[in-house]
Amino acid sequence: MKKHNFNAGPCILPEVALQNTAKAVVDLDGIGLSLLTISHRSKEFQAIMDETVALWKELLNIPEGYHVLFLGGGASLQFCMAPFNLMNKKVAFLETGVWAKKAIKEAKFFGETAVVASSADKNFTYIPKGYKIPTDVDYFHITTNNTIYGTEIHEDIDSPVNLVADMSSDIMSRPIDVSKYAMIYGGAQKNVGPSGVTFIIVRDDILGKVDRPIPTMLDYRTHIDKGSMFNTPPCGSIYTMRETLKWFKSMGGLEKIHEMNKKKAKLIYDEIDRNKMFVGTAVKEDRSLMNICFVMDEKYKEKEAAFLEFATKAGMVGVKGHRSVGGFRASVYNAHPIESAQALVDCMKEFEKQNA
Ligand SMILES: *Cc1c(COP(=O)(O)O)cnc(C)c1O
Repeated sequence: MKKHNFNAGPCILPEVALQNTAKAVVDLDGIGLSLLTISHRSKEFQAIMDETVALWKELLNIPEGYHVLFLGGGASLQFCMAPFNLMNKKVAFLETGVWAKKAIKEAKFFGETAVVASSADKNFTYIPKGYKIPTDVDYFHITTNNTIYGTEIHEDIDSPVNLVADMSSDIMSRPIDVSKYAMIYGGAQKNVGPSGVTFIIVRDDILGKVDRPIPTMLDYRTHIDKGSMFNTPPCGSIYTMRETLKWFKSMGGLEKIHEMNKKKAKLIYDEIDRNKMFVGTAVKEDRSLMNICFVMDEKYKEKEAAFLEFATKAGMVGVKGHRSVGGFRASVYNAHPIESAQALVDCMKEFEKQNA
């Protein structure tokens, strides 16, 4: 039976990226060696690295003065690496969920943190608005897409101080104005590749401004100097990321991808709003295009397990909500096909017909 992959991360990847990776794992471009057994210092791998960086720059239109790094450790390591490199005294945060809270926790090791606004009062079902970003901070940190709650900041915000963004789960889902950010980071496994590789886009001039010594591996300048090859990079993950980015490009770039994402998300949100058995959890204006969170209407609460079983039987995978919010979550990242979104909608319609 055809499976419809709604996993939140690691996530669905383009079929062609998987096929090409499978071939390269056996024999990379006919050189008679596997992608996984060649030296990261070989000309073959250097070419893969260079092309991947070039694709990042092209797809996101990254201006001069920025570097793109591919490291290990996940977005979670960036929660501490960012303040290690960028924070002298104080950092401001927008608290929009568990990931933001984790970033705040790590920054506290290095100084004072200020939560400028929080949506904790309503279990992070909205993005706070109308807050004022303080100017006495080293930077302002945001989480652009809140994977667990299905809320998203849909525009690049203006910040009077350096803006640092965790874009783990919506990077490359739409065109962005990189020049508005001092740094952008995330784990690749939510939208641009497999797990094992972390992307960092950093503006050079923000580095070297802190007083503390920084251990070599945790210093962004080390990785800039060595082109993300100070140590052995996650070669296989980078290869699949390159193939994924090539697919984004072949689809027409991020504007086209954004249109596709809007269409897919609308299909499912429209059904949630129409179907009397389900309700969306995020406030409408802040609804994420990537992670669609919904629950059973109060009246049908006892049907939750039955719907999950029904959906699973119909081939849906990964629609169970995060354990901290319950209900359902449909993650519809870039590579998620509209046919799968339609299959979920059909499933919801059929379930309503049989149960309401
Ligand atoms: C998944 C996720 C993380 C954690 O990523 P890891 O690469 O597993 O460390 C951080 N932030 C957001 C927004 C996420 O969705």
